[in-house]
Amino acid sequence: GLAGAFADSWLGATVQAMYRCRVCGSETERAVHCGSASERIRGFGWMTNDAVNLLSSLMAGALAALLGELL
Ligand SMILES: [Zn+2]
Repeated sequence: GLAGAFADSWLGATVQAMYRCRVCGSETERAVHCGSASERIRGFGWMTNDAVNLLSSLMAGALAALLGELL
């Protein structure tokens, strides 16, 4: 739902690994670009897109439970 989309974009912007290609200079989510290892500019190497999706659904569930308690 909405909370999941919010958590997903928030996590994606903060913890998901982002790399800069040493060859073409563009930012990428991939650790290898243009056949060369990229330089990590932020995030964690283990935080893949799948991990972000999993975490965001967990957070959305927790948030929904929390809101349910308050209402
Ligand atoms: Zn490249």
